Amino acid sequence: MGKITGFLEYERVDEKNKAVEERLKNFKEFTIPLKETELEKQGSRCMDCGIPFCHSGCPLGNLIPDFNELIYKKEWGKALRILHATNNFPEFTGRLCPAPCEKACVLGIIEDPISIENIEKNIVEKGFQEGWIQPQTPKERTGKTVAVVGSGPAGLAAAQQLNRAGHEVTVFERDDAIGGLLRYGIPNFKLDKKIIDRRLNILEAEGITFKTNTNIGVNYAVKDLEKFDAIVLCGGATEKRSLPTKGIEAKGVEQAMDFLTQQTKILFDKKIEGEIISAKGKNVIVIGGGDTGSDCVGTSNRQGAKSVTNFEIMPKPPVGRSEKTPWPYWPLQLKTSSSHEEGCDRNWLINTKEFVTDKNGNLTALKTVEVFWKITPGERPQLIEKKGSEKTWECDLVLLALGFTGPEKTLSDQLGLELDARSNYKATNYKTNVSNIFTAGDMRRGQSLIVWAINEGREAAREVDIFLMGSSNLPIKGQGDLPGV
Ligand SMILES: Cc1cc2nc3c(=O)[nH]c(=O)nc-3n(C[C@H](O)[C@H](O)[C@H](O)COP(=O)(O)OP(=O)(O)OC[C@H]3O[C@@H](n4cnc5c(N)ncnc54)[C@H](O)[C@@H]3O)c2cc1C
Repeated sequence: MGKITGFLEYERVDEKNKAVEERLKNFKEFTIPLKETELEKQGSRCMDCGIPFCHSGCPLGNLIPDFNELIYKKEWGKALRILHATNNFPEFTGRLCPAPCEKACVLGIIEDPISIENIEKNIVEKGFQEGWIQPQTPKERTGKTVAVVGSGPAGLAAAQQLNRAGHEVTVFERDDAIGGLLRYGIPNFKLDKKIIDRRLNILEAEGITFKTNTNIGVNYAVKDLEKFDAIVLCGGATEKRSLPTKGIEAKGVEQAMDFLTQQTKILFDKKIEGEIISAKGKNVIVIGGGDTGSDCVGTSNRQGAKSVTNFEIMPKPPVGRSEKTPWPYWPLQLKTSSSHEEGCDRNWLINTKEFVTDKNGNLTALKTVEVFWKITPGERPQLIEKKGSEKTWECDLVLLALGFTGPEKTLSDQLGLELDARSNYKATNYKTNVSNIFTAGDMRRGQSLIVWAINEGREAAREVDIFLMGSSNLPIKGQGDLPGV
């Protein structure tokens, strides 16, 4: 390690956020970067821990101790090279990843773990500032063509890797802009869209073709994909979950994704389908305590909601690690996001009983009941209502942030693809039951994380390359291809 006693000398320092009143005025990112000298100290906290569990904690197998040491030694260019070796898009994961690597950091057993995610973000940001991140065009073309359907992190990672292997890659996206959930799902205050555009410029310059407004199976026949030597389906898992609750059709009950997508489209003066969903001046209830729910809280507050309340049907997780998830496991523990900090009444173990409306069908209130989970060994946990705990909450807008039931089936139906037991696209080594069709990302594993999507895109690309060429020089997980800087 760069400085063997670094972890004894320096405490973890995280970047700060702008004040809540300031950041609620707009949809911009609001973090205040640390000075380079502070980041170098943070890098020096990485211990000579013997077995760096952060490697296995990271779905990409990022070479974390190596780049930590390099930034301590002020070798930022080399650190970028190491980071890019395993991660195509550290600017996305450096902002948005829940950082399982930090939960597995060995220093985390006795102290605050290394601030790996923030270091990652700053390495790639410096790389862009210094002009070190330049297109890497392949030396030779193979003459093979690949269609990638879907331009989220899985599709983009697959496309970049396949292009590096020399194949001609076309990415098809049904939306009017590239990026998948990064573009219109995840709010601007978490990811400024310029960050996606900056990377897209590189991908285009490397030779990847992007076709937007092209909905495969809808306005572009699947038969027309036959001209490609291989196809990688990265369509995500966007089938929204609803509730079988009385009154669900009330005016004012909306899907979280419709709300979030609209807000980002409004920021970019895009055409909005249907009525505008606004939280301004309203009592908003967000049902669902995950990332999507948290993004709805942040968006509602920025729109000027009167109040924001959040319901979750699961119990409140413990504040620290529980005994059930000891180090180095991913801990089930309370997560308080920056959006929660901005103002939100959070409630756990609440079930929705009825959406109440006025005579015009407009939502006026939500009836709930408190619940608990009865655990019987060998049986599925049972949800039990607490007698006498019914409550009515006045509200004008309810946002359903209940997750997704799986991928849409247009492509599997038309291409004759099998599904797995969880209704995701079935694949072995990313290969579906049709020989030249592969699948990766949320479409294959169900709704997950950006870091997993990038990993799946990379691994699928390698399998496609082997299918097309008989072997592949594309890297396997955790072993980078060390593209130059
Ligand atoms: C609101 C929200 C917030 C989130 N926040 C985080 C976070 O903070 N951190 C994190 O790690 N993860 C987060 N996630 C999860 C993360 O965004 C996803 O796991 C990730 O984007 C999946 O990538 P993907 O490439 O598999 O699919 P997606 O990003 O869903 O991209 C799929 C793309 O395929 C396109 N497509 C689908 N069918 C077709 C077709 N027939 N023709 C053409 N195009 C098609 C879609 O339009 C879409 O653009 C969040 C998810 C949501 C919904």
